[in-house]
Amino acid sequence: MHLEANRDRCVGSGQCVLVDPDAFDQDDADGLVVLLRAQPHDDAGLARAREAVNVCPGRALSLAD
Ligand code: SF4
Repeated sequence: MHLEANRDRCVGSGQCVLVDPDAFDQDDADGLVVLLRAQPHDDAGLARAREAVNVCPGRALSLAD
C-alpha cells in the first residue's frame, strides 16, 4: 500500500501533518500537502496513513496498492 496526495483537493488544513509528521509536510509557499514518505514502513505507519486519509477534510489523500 502507498499513499497518494492530490494537491488540487488539498485545503491546507494540516490534519495529515498532525497525524504523521514523518509522512506529511505543508508547502511553505501555499500550505498545501507535501508527501514526504508514500510507503508506510510498518503496521503502525500504515495505521497512521489510514487515519490521515480518514481525517483529511479535502478528501485529498488515498491509499492504493
Ligand atoms: S489533511 Fe488533507 S487537506 Fe489538510 S493539509 Fe493534509 S492533505 Fe491537505
